[in-house]
Amino acid sequence: PINCEPLKELIRTVPDFPKPGILFYDITTLLKDKNGFAQLIDAFAQYYIGKEVDLVLGIEARGFIFGPALAYRLNAGFVPVRKPKKLPAPVARVNYDLEYGTDALEIHLDAIKPGQRVIVVDDLLATGGTMQATVQLVRQLGGEIAGLGFAIELDFLKGRSKLQEYDVFSLLHYD
Ligand code: 5GP
Repeated sequence: PINCEPLKELIRTVPDFPKPGILFYDITTLLKDKNGFAQLIDAFAQYYIGKEVDLVLGIEARGFIFGPALAYRLNAGFVPVRKPKKLPAPVARVNYDLEYGTDALEIHLDAIKPGQRVIVVDDLLATGGTMQATVQLVRQLGGEIAGLGFAIELDFLKGRSKLQEYDVFSLLHYD
């Protein structure tokens, strides 16, 4: 297996973004590094090759950056999970709670055929609320969840506990 630990050196941490007290993990510094980006995709591909993945779902916006590259490697299709009112055709919508207030995500109703095997990817797992909401959308459309993949998991927030039924795979962990 690929040792991803060196990729941590390519991730920039930004204190007090987007709010005071939050330490933001910025992956743009990893993405612009040609070896770093290749290793990120290779490590995901190595994990998911052979798991019969039909579709890769990416969550807006950072899931759109590496989801398609992974889909290409897996010979799978790519489906965007979007913020409200961006998708043109009929959608399923899920509302979910944030620290303050709520947000929503949408997916095209015909994006997944019942029984298709999907993985959902995002850049970072924090509380797990965003991924939990996306999982609801997939299930509503009859998709089978073959895995949930993250570049980064913030272990101390225990987002994984909301996703216990699923195969959660993260390349990098922070305590
Ligand atoms: P959760 O719903 O798990 O609490 O938050 C995860 C979502 O917020 C993901 O869509 C992720 O992109 C975003 N997010 C939260 N904190 C960070 C961070 O420190 N860095 C990055 N890149 N994204 C974050």
